[in-house]
Amino acid sequence: MVFIILWIFQVLFFESFYRKVKLDRIDDVADNIVDIVGDDGIVDDDYNNLYHIAVDNDISIKVYSKYMYAKCDISTAYNDFTQITGYNQTAFYIKDIRESSNGEVSYIVRDERSEKEILVYGCVIGSKSDPQGYLLLGTPLELVDSTVTIIKEQMYIISAILIILGFVISFLASKMISDPIIKITKSAKNLGKGDYNVTFEGKGYDEAETLAETLTYAAKEISRADTLQRDLIANVSHDLRTPLTMLKAYAEMIRDLSGNNPIKRQEHLNIIIEETDRLAMLVTDMLDLSKMESGKDELNCTVFDISSKLSDIMTRYKGISERMGYNIYFEPDESAEVCCDVVKIEQVIYNLINNAINYTGEDKSVYVKQINQPEGVRIEVRDTGQGISPENIKLIFDKYYRSENHKREVVGTGLGLSIVKAILKKHNFAYGVQSTLGKGSTFWFVINRAKQFGPEPMPKELKERER
Ligand code: ADP
Repeated sequence: MVFIILWIFQVLFFESFYRKVKLDRIDDVADNIVDIVGDDGIVDDDYNNLYHIAVDNDISIKVYSKYMYAKCDISTAYNDFTQITGYNQTAFYIKDIRESSNGEVSYIVRDERSEKEILVYGCVIGSKSDPQGYLLLGTPLELVDSTVTIIKEQMYIISAILIILGFVISFLASKMISDPIIKITKSAKNLGKGDYNVTFEGKGYDEAETLAETLTYAAKEISRADTLQRDLIANVSHDLRTPLTMLKAYAEMIRDLSGNNPIKRQEHLNIIIEETDRLAMLVTDMLDLSKMESGKDELNCTVFDISSKLSDIMTRYKGISERMGYNIYFEPDESAEVCCDVVKIEQVIYNLINNAINYTGEDKSVYVKQINQPEGVRIEVRDTGQGISPENIKLIFDKYYRSENHKREVVGTGLGLSIVKAILKKHNFAYGVQSTLGKGSTFWFVINRAKQFGPEPMPKELKERER
């Protein structure tokens, strides 16, 4: 575009520009001369002035009296004005000046002898109605050609230099832009092949660096998810194999040994039932989580009293606490209506209480607390176990994460808290955990009030119709 504009102005329109500038210039000079020779005619000093004007501007000057008598004739060396200002031509010019509307004329005249174009300018001295004389000025236009040629030549050189420079700069710039992207693409291919330790390099410019950093971060996250998934398969297959081995062992024992011994058989069958429960739990957890995560599991929100729901749950734990010596303390608040998916929230509460039972300390105590707050109902489940270190706190809600030192008797899949997280997130409820090493942990979440999350209020007409 710059080239095109330059070419248009420098080459195509140059001549007309040049002529216009020349005409403006000659017009100014004419005004100047009219001032000098105006009222008092041409005095001695004026010749000098006119001569300087002529030389400085390369303009030939002819001043005539009103009877066409030449009073002053200055021709510059480059500009043989005399050739085109013979008696007849001058008479023609002056007649034109007289007939022109503003007392000014201009022509481009070709001097046949020198074959040069000359700009001739004529005007009246004094007023048109009362002329004191006439002024004719001439300046060569042929300079245009040489100037245009020079400029054209320069334009070719400039164009060539700029095109080469343009190529070099765009080559370097595109290299600078594409190099990091090529490197990133290469690393991304490696990542695709499963090399999670790949680092992305994007040195060069800000955006590429940010992209590289983001991809490196993504690769790390993928790697972590992959490790967790592998751990899960290891955990799950371990967790599946153990009960299966037990099932097989006890089934064989019943077949071969205790089939006819009702007491032994009963004992063995109980073990089989317990192990089957363990298996069923694992499978249910996996199904629940995959359903929640696939987004197919819609929430079925209803309004209910959370306080009585918690009391119900507590009664169901009575059996275990009595049998296994756990103390589960419940500290209720006033009854409060909430709106959420009751089955899922129950699952959250069960998971938290089960974890608390599994991980609580020697005193075998678990504390469940309901706290009514303006924004919702906070539910806390506290245990007195070993607590969770700050770096593990970040991980426990992750899928498949289980602490390395979990005991076999702590039945678990590493999915419990992921299910809790998925359910609470789907409800948009706040949740978290506070834990002190050696003292225990408190898991909490806040169920929003029924008002905010309740079903749509019934439209007025429907209410009236119901009435
Ligand atoms: P799990 O089936 O192993 O309990 P969860 O997802 O419920 O799976 O918990 C993940 C991990 O978080 C557990 O393995 C355990 O290390 C830790 N954790 C969960 N609850 C508690 C708790 N109350 N006290 C200490 N650690 C806990």
